[in-house]
Amino acid sequence: MARIVQKFGGTSVGSVERIIRVADRVIAEADAGHEVIVVVSAMGKTTDQLVTLANELTVSPSAREMDMLLSTGEQVTTSLLAMALQNRGMSAASITGWQAGIQTESVPGNARIVNIDTTRLEQLLASGTIAIVAGFQGISQEQDITTLGRGGSDTTAVALAAALHADRCDIYTDVPGVFTTDPRVVKDARKLQRISYDEMLELAHLGAGVLHPRAVEFAKNYQIPLTVRSSMTFEEGTRIEEEVKMENRSVVRGIAFEDQITRMTLFRMPRKEKNLSAVFSTLARHRINVDIIIQSVTSENSSNLSFSVKDSDVEEASRILEQEQERLHFEKMEAESGLAKVSIVGSGMISNPGVAAEMFDKLAQEDIDIKMVSTSEIKVSTVIEKQHMQKATQALHNCFQLGEEMPVEGVPVTHT
Ligand code: ASP
Ligand code: MG
Repeated sequence: MARIVQKFGGTSVGSVERIIRVADRVIAEADAGHEVIVVVSAMGKTTDQLVTLANELTVSPSAREMDMLLSTGEQVTTSLLAMALQNRGMSAASITGWQAGIQTESVPGNARIVNIDTTRLEQLLASGTIAIVAGFQGISQEQDITTLGRGGSDTTAVALAAALHADRCDIYTDVPGVFTTDPRVVKDARKLQRISYDEMLELAHLGAGVLHPRAVEFAKNYQIPLTVRSSMTFEEGTRIEEEVKMENRSVVRGIAFEDQITRMTLFRMPRKEKNLSAVFSTLARHRINVDIIIQSVTSENSSNLSFSVKDSDVEEASRILEQEQERLHFEKMEAESGLAKVSIVGSGMISNPGVAAEMFDKLAQEDIDIKMVSTSEIKVSTVIEKQHMQKATQALHNCFQLGEEMPVEGVPVTHT
């Protein structure tokens, strides 16, 4: 007997018919003798619709009330799925995040899980009941309902798998797995059989929407075998696991992209030791997330400082920095919007020099101007104009032969 966490996303539970199909999947595991914990998202586009409702009422709804509102979506699904299972003679019970003991920080809208008290869940499992937990929600120390950030039901599932020492966590979604890049953009994008936790973490952070980044973080930290698969078909999904278990090592595993990026530049700022920290601590205090940072020295005592932020943060960032202009002594500030970030990710980069060069070369051939670059051991990100985002992704997908299967390390299969 194994203990399994199954998570079903919004599309998979988008109608009563689909909830009945989901019940089949749950029963299949239970009938095989496994203990099953199910985590569900809100039905279809429910969360978006709830956001729209709030925005019709006010431009600045209170964060606490937003959490209260958005958390209702998942609860609808839990009870309907419990009914579907009970109809089939199964013992099942729906529970909210707080009933499941999911304690979070007091950060409305984007709370992290700090602890899970599994007493209630263990009792349900011990009594042979299938527990159906509302994803995306928890409770703060102040006993307020919190949500974990959009897409957070994945994180609920993996965190529960960790806390309950589950044998595996299966994420059922509307795509058959993790792809080399978004198949809506690149036609020959290929489903990966396997990907490492680290690669998946980079891709999730860099804009691949298939998994919530914090879910991957949990899976890695607690070594939870994680699978992403379709709830509509029975094909095998993608396994996310530790690098050592993977034989097929291509240099680049996947390409992620995201738009709505702005590059802000502060011109001719005096090169004083405290200046850099002053800029970024000011932005951090206002919870503005800065991504890529480039400082270029223009003369012995002056430099230009560029950094990228999300479009939605530009107004606030400009306002704050203008207020600080006197203290920071920069001459001029500029914001260039309409940008996108395209990133290549792969653990094989660690041992293969020249990957970044190949990427830049390819983009140059396509006449795409690279505005910013950032790298880690296993990724290279470039900021380019948004209008070139798709072309760049397709070109890099071809360049690194991601459409082809790689059974042997780094060598594409040749079909004769
Ligand atoms: N329902 C939430 C959302 O749409 C959480 C989730 O589905 O993971 O973001
Ligand atoms: Mg999701």
